[in-house]
Amino acid sequence: MELYSTLSRTIEPLETLHPDRVYLFVCGPTVYDYSHLGHARTYVAFDVLTKYLRWTGKEVFYLQNITDVDDKIINRAAEEGISQPALARKFETEYFRDMLALGIDAVSYYARATTHIPEIIDQVGRLIARGVAYVTETGVYFNVDSFERNGELSGQDGTNRVSRVTDATKQNPLDFSLWKTGEYGEYTWDSPWGRGRPGWHIEDTAISEKYFGQQYDIHGGGLDLIFPHHEAEIAQMESLEGKHPMVRYWLHTGFLTVKGEKMSKSLGNFITIRDALKTWNKEVLRYFILLSHYRSPLQATDEGLANAAKGLGHIRAIAGKDKGPDEEGRKTFIDAMEADLNTPMALAAIQRLAANGDLGALKEYGAILGINFLQETSAPLSVLHEIREELRAKKQFEVADIIREKMVAAGITITDQPL
Ligand code: AMP
Repeated sequence: MELYSTLSRTIEPLETLHPDRVYLFVCGPTVYDYSHLGHARTYVAFDVLTKYLRWTGKEVFYLQNITDVDDKIINRAAEEGISQPALARKFETEYFRDMLALGIDAVSYYARATTHIPEIIDQVGRLIARGVAYVTETGVYFNVDSFERNGELSGQDGTNRVSRVTDATKQNPLDFSLWKTGEYGEYTWDSPWGRGRPGWHIEDTAISEKYFGQQYDIHGGGLDLIFPHHEAEIAQMESLEGKHPMVRYWLHTGFLTVKGEKMSKSLGNFITIRDALKTWNKEVLRYFILLSHYRSPLQATDEGLANAAKGLGHIRAIAGKDKGPDEEGRKTFIDAMEADLNTPMALAAIQRLAANGDLGALKEYGAILGINFLQETSAPLSVLHEIREELRAKKQFEVADIIREKMVAAGITITDQPL
């Protein structure tokens, strides 16, 4: 398989550190609110990558952190008058619920920041001992000037960015926080540098070092995380013992956008996963997401989703009877997946496989993509069809049309016979 790495800015063959085993880390959510379709975009991409790699016979250890200590959590818990742990546990559970509702189930292990405080403190201590981090009265900071590869991933060292938070105790305004001293409510811990809590970047490297060691294969996340977050992770991990590269394949997903802007909580332009699931079922949402390559921006529109529903319905409608393997169609699908997870091309291959009646491939590849391309006629579905037929016969077209819209949105094909 070949993958595009942000670090080399090229498509490279995937060569893992251990044969037939892949260590994949993807930045998880900050659990202070419900997840939206932007999150779905990123996590569907890594779900499919993992399922594909497993299908090829590789063992994938897919690790995801849960950021449960953060300013946003502190603020939201205060607003809601509940404790930080109560808020974090609530939204962590809701996150798992949303992921499962979308069929995102490939993660091997979820690791909370707050259950890795000893590892975080240990890593910060080692960075201080190495002379690349220093202590002030406000906390512990990483000295960016100590790291010569600073800026290699993002192509920027941050000097063009004016930090909104300037701390007079920092040696360089670009130095980033490893430990913040102070009292932050429930999520405050004792440390050799005073009571406080971890900075944002250190949880990922403390967690990934614990489970993978200082070098592993793939690190993923959305485009917004390249700088400063992933840049900081590299500086931290590679400064520990100088092992380079921490990760060879840095995979970044493009944004899911609304009217050209990134879907995000702060812009207020988001649709939660659970709201989207009221109109579109999980398979339509996955099909919609996978119709675009994971690195391209993806515009979220009702029209795009409706087209995805129609497209999926079409595949299901033409699949028909099994006509045996279509070897060329299968090869096209696999070639597409091998080429930096080109899911739009893979879905074009699925169309061909459906047209040629290769139901075996549709079933097998559908499991990789998390989409059932073979529409099963379940009892509730045939009952719905019958109700619609009766309504149409009684000329109650309005209600029949509402049912039709909902069924089409769920990717169910409807071919009405003339009355
Ligand atoms: P957060 O909880 O905001 O830290 O986001 C969790 C993950 O979702 C990160 O990898 C983000 O980059 C990703 N993400 C957030 N918003 C979007 C979006 N609009 N499009 C694609 N990925 C996103």
